[in-house]
Amino acid sequence: MARHPLTRTVLLVLGLGLGAGPAAAAEPIWDANQVRMVSETLAPGAYAFYAADAGARNARGEPAATSAGLIVGSRGALLIDTMLNERLNAQVQELAGNLAGKPLRYALNTSAHGDHSFGNMYLPAGTLLIQHERTQRFIAGHLEADKAFMLQYFGSDRGIEPIQARAADLLVPQDGRLRLDLGDREVEIIDFGFAQTGGDLWVWDAQSKVLWSGNPVIAGKPALPWLLDGRLLDTLRTLERVRDFLPDDARIVPGHGVPLAKRDLDWHIDYLRAVRDQVQAAIADGLSLEQTVARVTLPEFAGYAIFGWVHPGLNVPAAYRDLSGDETPPAE
Ligand SMILES: [Zn+2]
Repeated sequence: MARHPLTRTVLLVLGLGLGAGPAAAAEPIWDANQVRMVSETLAPGAYAFYAADAGARNARGEPAATSAGLIVGSRGALLIDTMLNERLNAQVQELAGNLAGKPLRYALNTSAHGDHSFGNMYLPAGTLLIQHERTQRFIAGHLEADKAFMLQYFGSDRGIEPIQARAADLLVPQDGRLRLDLGDREVEIIDFGFAQTGGDLWVWDAQSKVLWSGNPVIAGKPALPWLLDGRLLDTLRTLERVRDFLPDDARIVPGHGVPLAKRDLDWHIDYLRAVRDQVQAAIADGLSLEQTVARVTLPEFAGYAIFGWVHPGLNVPAAYRDLSGDETPPAE
């Protein structure tokens, strides 16, 4: 099993909701054969990579392709996320090569999710790969199942079939931090706590005041967190910790979109707090899961194109389990 069964159920709903017919034959949520990655300079040596249509999709509340990034120092460059397949990995490597003018010294996966890590095998042999220890463990134990899972939602002939694992060179321990000396700048790689997978790494470049988040911040409003592995309270605590950590003028490169301001985190935090409070009240009133889903509709947070499954199909049930003391076990 690649992930908790919940994930599979929910994405089945996603597949059915956005495409035609059964999930396995549905249109991919975004087409990895079509995406064109572009670069935005956020500060000298700090770049966000995202799909050319990410801004328009974010504004419409539609899912966008994976974002990535690059930090360039005098002694080396760090690529943040390696994308879903060879085609997209080649695009970010080309952007990185043009901007850095030197070989990639480091690459990192913000999580084990395939759209952030399947491109690892296409990195140059000399590039050092950084992962959370949990990400390495997950990929070592689940790659084939995870490829099958990803094939269902991104489609065949999107470069998923040939993916093989590549071993990490540097591991970040649970709740750990890794300081990376790129020469004239030091970058911090931080596990702020469970945020979506338990192996979530955030990259902080103090010099540019840019934070790369991966999926825990999927995109700006109206996008919402996906509690794929449950743990609402931990996720909320982690986002609050990130907000406390950031200076007010920090920017965030999210997992699937264009850069955000620090204040854009409030949307996600306010949503998770509203889910927590209302689900807690429903449990106190003795409501069942089905009754809770029916009551906790939070229309003020609608607007995300996939709100109809992410909220009632995924997040409210996850919160109900969490707050009932029946927490979703973490995927291993
Ligand atoms: Zn992603």
